[in-house]
Amino acid sequence: MGEHIHVRIWDVTGVGDDGELLESAHCRCGATWNRSYRPDDGSPED
Ligand SMILES: [Zn+2]
Repeated sequence: MGEHIHVRIWDVTGVGDDGELLESAHCRCGATWNRSYRPDDGSPED
């Protein structure tokens, strides 16, 4: 296969024990990613 640039489509899948947002992403090629982040750690301007 040639070069493939993953297209990650993120969806919020839940909220963790500490209030962090759990997100997962998938690409049409089948690759998946998971991440979590805490909204209160973000930029205060947001
Ligand atoms: Zn891909």
